[in-house]
Amino acid sequence: MALMTHARNQAHTADYTQLSPTVQAVIDKALTDADAADTGKDYVKAMGYVATAAGIQLPTSKDLAVCSCLNDADGCGCGAIFDTALTGVVVTATSDPDCNLSRLQCPTCGHDHPRPAA
Ligand SMILES: [Zn+2]
Ligand SMILES: [Zn+2]
Repeated sequence: MALMTHARNQAHTADYTQLSPTVQAVIDKALTDADAADTGKDYVKAMGYVATAAGIQLPTSKDLAVCSCLNDADGCGCGAIFDTALTGVVVTATSDPDCNLSRLQCPTCGHDHPRPAA
């Protein structure tokens, strides 16, 4: 009998702070690539790397983000990696010129402490 491969029941979110430095570096690089991607194809490819590295499924939005609380000076340190299409995601800063990625808070942070004071 052939060995069947089933889609694993993967999580939809991950925690950046729980990942190894090596994995974090892969995600950082992939997000940088997504930020600078010129085409949707390149963008989705980069997001695919983020999902694979984080061990989560690439959502149907093909768009993932790390919670901006991770790098905001007054953020709570949350490192959630989440589908940007989720309800409750808060944009804390729009993307820089010629860049694709806005800074986003995960729904939990957007609910608990929206928009860190700039
Ligand atoms: Zn968060
Ligand atoms: Zn937070």
